[in-house]
Parts: sequence; C-alpha cells; structure tokens
Amino acid sequence: MKITRIETIHLKQFAAATWVRVHTDAGYIGLGETWFGPRSVAGAVHEMFSPLLIGQEASAIERHWRDMFDMANAYGYAGAEARAISAIDIALWDIAGQVAGQPIYNLLGGACRDRIRTYNTTGQWGENRDMERAMIDAGTLAKSLLDDGITAMKWAFTDPFADLSRGVDLRAEDLALMLKPIEAMRDAVGNQLDIANDGHGRWNLNNAIRIGQAMDPFDMMWQEELIQPTNVENHVTLAQEIIAPVCVSERLVSKYQFREYLRAGAAEVVMPDLIWTGGITETKKIATMAEAEQRPVAPHDMTGPVNVFACAHICMNAPNAWLMETCRAFYGKGGWYADVVEPNIRVVDGQLLAPVGPGLGTRLRDDVFDRADVTVESSDKPGAPHWGGHESPVFEIVGERGERKIQYRKSWDR
Ligand SMILES: [Mg+2]
Repeated sequence: MKITRIETIHLKQFAAATWVRVHTDAGYIGLGETWFGPRSVAGAVHEMFSPLLIGQEASAIERHWRDMFDMANAYGYAGAEARAISAIDIALWDIAGQVAGQPIYNLLGGACRDRIRTYNTTGQWGENRDMERAMIDAGTLAKSLLDDGITAMKWAFTDPFADLSRGVDLRAEDLALMLKPIEAMRDAVGNQLDIANDGHGRWNLNNAIRIGQAMDPFDMMWQEELIQPTNVENHVTLAQEIIAPVCVSERLVSKYQFREYLRAGAAEVVMPDLIWTGGITETKKIATMAEAEQRPVAPHDMTGPVNVFACAHICMNAPNAWLMETCRAFYGKGGWYADVVEPNIRVVDGQLLAPVGPGLGTRLRDDVFDRADVTVESSDKPGAPHWGGHESPVFEIVGERGERKIQYRKSWDR
C-alpha cells in the first residue's frame, strides 16, 4: 500500500492550524494536525517530506519517522520540520488503524483504560466566557467546572504580571494579586478542584521560585513552565525549592530533549505536545521513558481536535497516563471542534472516552472542503528533497546492501 498524495489543509478562520491528509493507493486517507506557522509547515511538508514519502509503503511508520527526522536534523529539527513530522506521523497511524480495523491504541499495545480524567484548560469560544471568569469570578468558574464533572483546571495566573517586565520584576503586590483567583476557587469549592498553574516560560529563576513557594500552600496540581525549558539545572533547582511538581511541557521536542530533563529529575510531570514533539510515534516513546522514571504523562493540548484524538490513543494505552488537557469551550456545545471534525471527542462527567472506530476515530467534515476560506495544497510526486542547490557527484555503483546502492569511485579498491 503506497503513499500517493499528501495534502495540507488550511482554514483562514483557524489561522494557526494545519491539517495534513496522507492518501494511499488502497483508498485509505489518514488525517494529522499541527499548529502554528502554517506556511512554514506546508513548506516542510511539500518541500521536504512529500518527495521523501510519495511512492513509499504507508505502513512503515517507524522508518518514515526516522528518515524525516534525520533529514530535518541536518540543520536542526525542532521547528516547522518537527511540526510537519508530527502531523504526517499521526496521519500514518490513522491509516494503519483503518487498515487493521482497530483504534490506534490497540496497535500501541492495547488499552489500559477506556476513559481518562480531563482537566479544563481555561479558554473561551462563543458564548463560553471561562477565561473572563478566571480573571474576575474564579469561584463561579470553579463551581461550574464541578457542575460539568470536571475536577481539575489550569490557568496562567501569572502571565499579565510577567509581561510587565519580561519576568524580571516581581513585586510583592503583584504576587499577592496573582493568588486571588486561586484563593477564590479554594473558598468556593475547597479541595474538590485540582488547580495547575502555567507560567508559559515567562519568569526568571528567582521569581519562579517565589511564585512556586507562594502558591504551594494552595496544594497546586503542578507548576508548568515557570521558566523556559532551556536549562536543565535550573529546573532541578526549581524542583528542589517548591513542593508542587514541576511540569516540563510543550516546548520540548522529541525524546532527546525530554531525556535530558527526565534523567536529571527535572521533569516531574511529563507533558509532550503530540503535534509538535514528533507525533504518536514519539509521544509513545516519551510516555514510556517517563514510565521508566516513575513519572506521569499528561499530554499538552489547547490546539485542535485531531490532537485531542491522537492524545486520547496515547492516554488509553500508556499505563502512566494521568490526565488529558481539554478545553470545554472548544469541544463542548457551541465550541468549534464540531465545525471541523466528525465525530467530535466525547467527554462525559469530566472523563474523556476512548475514541470509537478504526484509526484515529475522526475525520475532517466533508464541508470543510466547500468553505470559502479553505486552501488545499497537494503533492503527488516522489523525488529528491531540496538541499539548497548543492550538486552531488554521481559515482559508479560498486555494490548493494539490501535496497541501498553503494556509489563510489570504482577504481579504488575496497
Ligand atoms: Mg503550557
């Protein structure tokens, strides 16, 4: 079953998103997704990886991941290239599941569970005003989450203050103010709700320690990216200085970057973003590495529905999966996921249910392709990827190893 065509699909309404579809000569179509820099992602998909993959066996997912990564890593992999690899990888797993007639989690080793607890990451869409409520009426927000059966939430309590000084100048009055919404939620619902803070990497180490220690009395679920994950030793220091687990998160790309933090004990909660870090192939490995270090995995979200479906397969399978990040403003009634995919993800009483059906368990709606704001770019030609105009000398073929030919100057003895 050969890969015949790869598409990138963009909707102006969701300007950061790229959906990728991989077509095969057997009629299967796999769906993937990534977010941010859609023109860069489309460039990586069509310029680099489509020529590499068109005409190749669709089921060879591990080989394709390796070939794409090795190509990108000639000059640094962790950008649009990694996002493109992630989206293509999800689509290949979707095809594999459809061919097998099984949900992807069964191809990963089967299900450890049939549902997983979610936490609501604070976003808003349409009539849902959760983000505003987090700022002005956090107690009511906490109660409404519990009313939906959602027992954990995350919000970036410190972002507005970090932005005043690039995280350098943390004043006592600011620190007191950023605790107010947490106090309001504890006052409203006690310990029924678990609360995580996401610092979005905006603080320096000194202030990260002050914030972590100031929030510790509220028994925070975790502290995520109080500092940017660009320094393993500082994360070890932070983990030693605060009680809440240090969550190392969506900015780490591939098992190689997670390895450094896991080995140092600097990633107490492991939060790979599946659509940036390398897809299902890589996230499964990162989850297993976390398992070996006796750490939980809680995949990152706050992007699109295909990511949620892909993460759901990891979370049904991985023994150490803890929680799934979801946003009720997006998946719930009036949210936008239903405008793009069918079926939608199912969350019941705060629990995300295992996807049903073969492959990912969802697909782009047919009417996505009828929209006025859709752009579809397509590649169907195999060939050499662009290497920047370098000429490669062609030598004679002096031998073969499996599929690979050895080209060298024949007159030289081996
Ligand atoms: Mg985050």
